[in-house]
Amino acid sequence: ASLPYIVGNWKMNGTRAMLPEARAIDRAAARFPKVQVAVAPPATLIYRTREAAELIGVGGQDCHTQESGAYTGDISAVMLKDAGADFTIVGHSERRAMHGETDGVVQAKAQAALAAGLAVIVCVGETEAERDAGQAVAVVSGQIEGSLPRGDGVVEKVSVAYEPVWAIGTGRVPSIEDVAAMHAAIREQLIAIYGADGAGVRILYGGSVKAENAAELLAVANVGGALVGGASLTAESFLAIVGAA
Ligand code: 13P
Repeated sequence: ASLPYIVGNWKMNGTRAMLPEARAIDRAAARFPKVQVAVAPPATLIYRTREAAELIGVGGQDCHTQESGAYTGDISAVMLKDAGADFTIVGHSERRAMHGETDGVVQAKAQAALAAGLAVIVCVGETEAERDAGQAVAVVSGQIEGSLPRGDGVVEKVSVAYEPVWAIGTGRVPSIEDVAAMHAAIREQLIAIYGADGAGVRILYGGSVKAENAAELLAVANVGGALVGGASLTAESFLAIVGAA
């Protein structure tokens, strides 16, 4: 099986003052050779983070569907790659909710990332109302079907992050049984989409991951890593999660 993949999503947090945290994470990563560690800083810090770090992956948090053009304020996957990124996140629930990104847009972004030579982490997850309505698996299944990139050779470059929207930044996490059930459902669908290779795609859990719950979550079948928001903003709290993996 592949190494657990622990990714810090800094969201819209971080100026150059955060670079020492990235450097500390990178230096410490050498002590955890059995864990694949990465951070996704704001786009303005990708180049500097890449320069400051040697071991860890560095990624974007989003990319445009197009390589270039009249899209003021946007950043393409080609630009992320040029800045030193290895991967990008796409389809985070904050992008879906605040920027109206549909499954089709997320899929096009994922394809653009792969075309630029980046790996991609595609995010999915249900809202609290959807879970309460018993629709969590159906909603996530629809997002997987509509958002994942397709094509020859893409499967090795794809990870999925299951992030229940109601667990993000709230301190609430689903039960271990619910995490196991959702990740099993996603696994089945990945195999349906990619064939046998779908068994190797890492499915990260995200939403209020902390040092205190990381070991338990990462021990669940089909949980291949974690996508960490708030707790990735200091080297100390992020490395505690890396250490639990
Ligand atoms: P928190 O870890 O802050 O809940 O954020 C999760 C997340 O959205 C990571 O992408």
